[in-house]
Amino acid sequence: MSSSEKHTFQAEIQQLLNIVIHSLYTDKEIFVRELISNAADACEKLRFTQASGTPVHQPEIAAGISLTSDEAAGTLTFIDTGVGMTHDELVKNLGTIAHSGTKAFLKQLAEDKKPDVGLIGQFGVGFYSAFMAAKRVTVHSRSYLDGESGWQWVSEGTGGYEITPASDLPRGTKITLELKDEAKEFATAGTLERIIKRYSSFVPFPIELNGTKVNTVQALWTRSKNEIKEEEYNEFYQFIAHDQDNPLLRLHFNADAPIAIQSLLFVPARNVETMGMGRIESEVNLYCRKVLIQSKAKGLFPEWLRFLKGVVDSEDLPLNISRETMQDTSLMQKLNKALTSRFLKFLNEQSEQNPETYDKFYDEYHRFLKEGVVTDFTHREALGKLLRYESSSTEKGKRTSLADYVKRMPEEQKEIYCLMAPNREAAESSPYFEVFRERKFEVLFLYDEWDEFVTEHLHTFEGKTLKPAEKADLNLNDPKKDGALSEEAAKALAAWIKESLGERVGEVRASQRLVDSPAVIVDADRYMTSSMRRMLKAMKKDESEFPAEKQDLEINPAHPIIARLDQMRQKDASLAGQVAEQILDNARVAAGVLEDPRTMLKRMNQLLERVLA
Ligand code: ADP
Ligand code: MG
Repeated sequence: MSSSEKHTFQAEIQQLLNIVIHSLYTDKEIFVRELISNAADACEKLRFTQASGTPVHQPEIAAGISLTSDEAAGTLTFIDTGVGMTHDELVKNLGTIAHSGTKAFLKQLAEDKKPDVGLIGQFGVGFYSAFMAAKRVTVHSRSYLDGESGWQWVSEGTGGYEITPASDLPRGTKITLELKDEAKEFATAGTLERIIKRYSSFVPFPIELNGTKVNTVQALWTRSKNEIKEEEYNEFYQFIAHDQDNPLLRLHFNADAPIAIQSLLFVPARNVETMGMGRIESEVNLYCRKVLIQSKAKGLFPEWLRFLKGVVDSEDLPLNISRETMQDTSLMQKLNKALTSRFLKFLNEQSEQNPETYDKFYDEYHRFLKEGVVTDFTHREALGKLLRYESSSTEKGKRTSLADYVKRMPEEQKEIYCLMAPNREAAESSPYFEVFRERKFEVLFLYDEWDEFVTEHLHTFEGKTLKPAEKADLNLNDPKKDGALSEEAAKALAAWIKESLGERVGEVRASQRLVDSPAVIVDADRYMTSSMRRMLKAMKKDESEFPAEKQDLEINPAHPIIARLDQMRQKDASLAGQVAEQILDNARVAAGVLEDPRTMLKRMNQLLERVLA
């Protein structure tokens, strides 16, 4: 009795297959890389299983990979002697999406006119790339588990797949591709050899092509640094990261204490997380003496370093440790600490030795460092050293470190000042900046909306408090008095303005820090800044939940508008009242917290009317 079962693909997989089948993607050859890397994964898993003492089916067969091609028949077959798959694993692995982040990738693919299928392996769906070249794919697989038997899985990409029992299979997996007419070149030995050499040279298992071994096994990270060529590093990176570009940064290091580590880490040139691909997962594989312990090892690095790719090899790891408990062991924590500190030190060195490369790194990955500052107390200080900001002392587009900022601080300056602004122009023309410009105190310009929380969490750097510019308790050294209202007059005017604005402001007082602006609002709340208020407003759901505003208005007694307002209020109180309201709204605009500019427009028009009367 033949018991063939028909299955349909999960909807997302079918959607992916439709794209892949009709893809005009030019580098179709990557399907070879993907199938070989799956075969290699299966071999690694087998080696691990054996090393930890678990019995496997047919232990006499060594782990390895072989390809055979038949040009006349137009077929290509991949065989591995790895762990194989059971019936249920076939259904689960070759029919559903197992990885988070993949859906975002699919969405992106579906929207693109010329989808970049080359990233397919990075999103945990590499197997399906076979359908770029094949009209039909047949998988024969036999799990390493005793008592299991073999299965055949067949699909033409559309219309689901069929599973049938298959007897007498050796352990492992055989995948046969019946090539499409336009993909017949992949049955040519020469083409295949080139592709395998290009992508799969470092696969730590022998790969045979039509009976001849083609790869040279090399665990690059175990070799000595000065023997390795730049090119070899790049090729190694491209293979492990499924990336066609070279990495942006590379760290190859060994350590003995407190724990033995051989590690080769890379930072990709592009940060795919900001490309709308969803949260990326760390892709650093953990080895013990070249045997894979855990691929994409969880807990090896803090979350904010999830953009790293590479290899960590530690001979201090017990081979038989269970993968689930791995994450919690103190050994893992030790590794994590040692690796993270080393990597942060490396970044710091790069920022000094290769500032241009560091700049590129910072452009791509600054948000990860900032996430670290906010979430990771252990490394906060080291991360603080890596932050870079434009400031009033840098040129536009150039950034400074906090350390250099501190070096430039004049003796009378006690704090590090930070000004949130959408861009440099806005920062330089902000009323909050005036007092700093006059006193020649440098101010960091923060353009990223995360920065306010970042500087708040960092809190201090080299013993200096990071202070929002609008909260700075600073006075002008030498307030310009020409035509300014006297202290008493300013006080009286402030009282009058408060009376006329009523509940719309907290206190009104004369400012000691304004030069060019007539007025500025200052949050009465000691911790709240305008940008925080803005963010809270954007997040609030229910109007009534939002804490009542308590913004104070500071007026500049030396500003002509303020001086003339004082005269006006005695002549025409109603006009002066309108001007006072407008001054308040203008200050709100400068702080970016004006709610509804339309009410202001109406008043503005009335004022214009009176001016033109
Ligand atoms: P990924 O390799 O990122 O998990 P793939 O789509 O390439 O995604 O493969 C899906 C899954 O199918 C693998 O995780 C693995 O469990 C299984 N698989 C694929 N090829 C093989 C193989 N040759 N041997 C054993 N399992 C395999
Ligand atoms: Mg894969």
